[in-house]
Amino acid sequence: MLNNLIISIIGARVQTRTRGENVIPLTCPNCKNGIEINNVLIEKIKKRVLIKCNDCEEEHNLFEYLDILTTDNIFLRYSFISNYHHSGITDFIPGQLKKVDIPSDFKEVHKIFVTPFGEGVRPIQCFTIILSKIEFGIISIKREGESYPEKYGASYLIYGNKTGKKLPLWTYILTSAKSFELENNFRNAIIECQTAFELFLTVYTKEKIRRLYSENIADYIYLSRRPRVEDLTKGIMKLAVGKTLPELLGGLDQDALYQKWKNGVNDKRNLIVHKGEDASKEEANEAFATIFKLVIFLDPDILHYFSSEMTTSTNY
Ligand SMILES: [Zn+2]
Repeated sequence: MLNNLIISIIGARVQTRTRGENVIPLTCPNCKNGIEINNVLIEKIKKRVLIKCNDCEEEHNLFEYLDILTTDNIFLRYSFISNYHHSGITDFIPGQLKKVDIPSDFKEVHKIFVTPFGEGVRPIQCFTIILSKIEFGIISIKREGESYPEKYGASYLIYGNKTGKKLPLWTYILTSAKSFELENNFRNAIIECQTAFELFLTVYTKEKIRRLYSENIADYIYLSRRPRVEDLTKGIMKLAVGKTLPELLGGLDQDALYQKWKNGVNDKRNLIVHKGEDASKEEANEAFATIFKLVIFLDPDILHYFSSEMTTSTNY
């Protein structure tokens, strides 16, 4: 039936786009529904209070909402490194290259998924190929001796970054950590996680020290001697916010998070760099989630950086 629909409107190229919608990686651990990011939520996170889910009304702490970060779901994993998603529907003829437009507001494309559909049609294997900045292709594989319908429908999903969205350098390094993990380069993923965190700590503490003390003190700390990560999490953190990172994270769940960073990211990164140690997918995944949780804990406004926009189009 869907096939008939597609064939009947071929030739009339229709394009519709919906307004952007924000998607963020905060998910209720109980009902699995996503939570909309707004200033009320950010204020709650800043006050370190439990957050009530709007759907199931259960209360959980921030870190439980962020447990989704270690998910194995491939779509979600791409959504953590992309601030722009675009979904659409098109059609293709089995065995022929189908060209599809990539919206012009993509700065870069990370991944395109395609799923053929049609009621009662024979399953067909297909994959995508990026042809240029503005076009991708759907290639379908016809097996010899098999008969196929004239056309298939296909839904596609493009993950990438949007032009014009300026973000701090450390966010690019953290997303590059996830990209390395998706490419099964787990050692580099962990190294990037630690680099992103060190850079974040520098930006975070420097801004506060400049405001609290003087430009001279900030210059002395950051320019004359480059701070080591131990200083950034302890002495310099205390100067900036009155507590060291382990003190800020005091409490059952948070202590565990500090240890995860110390062993799973900081020490692990040194073992990789200095001893050539190997790393697993689970270790890389956990390292990314740990750093993400730490930066959101220290500065909840950062959630805005990771919100992503989604648009939809239909091309027939
Ligand atoms: Zn819920």
